[in-house]
Amino acid sequence: MERGKVYRRHQAARYKARAFKVSQRWWGGKAPSPRIVGLNYATRCKPCSCYMCGNRRSLEGPTRAERLSALVESEEWGSR
Ligand SMILES: [Zn+2]
Repeated sequence: MERGKVYRRHQAARYKARAFKVSQRWWGGKAPSPRIVGLNYATRCKPCSCYMCGNRRSLEGPTRAERLSALVESEEWGSR
């Protein structure tokens, strides 16, 4: 299905509202500055790579699916 300009604008507005709400929570219920809201919008509310925001792979190593895939490739399951 083709999605046009109206849809993209709707999604942007929706996400900007979400970024505002998240920023408000981070700033103790007070209205956050537009700069903070813009930062959260641009980074999808994950502005850093700490253990709460960042990709879990950097802390926990490869995911279960990646480990399974590596196992299958190393043992050549297709040849059995
Ligand atoms: Zn963080």
